[in-house]
Amino acid sequence: MLNGCPWRKFHKGCRNNCKKLTDDSQKQRVYCWEETLNHDIEESVKVLTIEECKKLVSKICNRYQIKPPEVVKGKWKRRANGGKDFITLPNRYRDRIAVVHETSHALEQNHAVKYDTYETREDHGPIFMRYVLENLSKELRIPIKKLMKTVEIFELKVARKKDCKL
Ligand SMILES: [Zn+2]
Repeated sequence: MLNGCPWRKFHKGCRNNCKKLTDDSQKQRVYCWEETLNHDIEESVKVLTIEECKKLVSKICNRYQIKPPEVVKGKWKRRANGGKDFITLPNRYRDRIAVVHETSHALEQNHAVKYDTYETREDHGPIFMRYVLENLSKELRIPIKKLMKTVEIFELKVARKKDCKL
């Protein structure tokens, strides 16, 4: 996160180690799953300009009527990063899958604030996954059922649609 822990203002007593509250148990499997998508769907690896990335972030946020996070280039960052206030997208993370992934962090964090679930949330948990699938399905024009099948192989938990209303 660019400005330290995004939960600081919501979680009294946070000493910037909020992440230790819950383990992010699906994280590695989410990365592995996304890599398999990269090979399957040509559209997914198309490199976008930073302006196209910003448009895509806004488009996704508009679906849920949340304020889009600010998109920054993150030139010197090694990784992409996403949250409800900022999304960092270094050069090699400017494709649809990466943008959907990072924007879904913003959606999930807004969700946690709205439903007051920040103590039990996981960065790459079931709620996050629901938002990723919903938006990947729309942006890559793949039926969500088909995407669900790819997720099953990695035993990723996905929250129910009715539990993910922003
Ligand atoms: Zn992530």
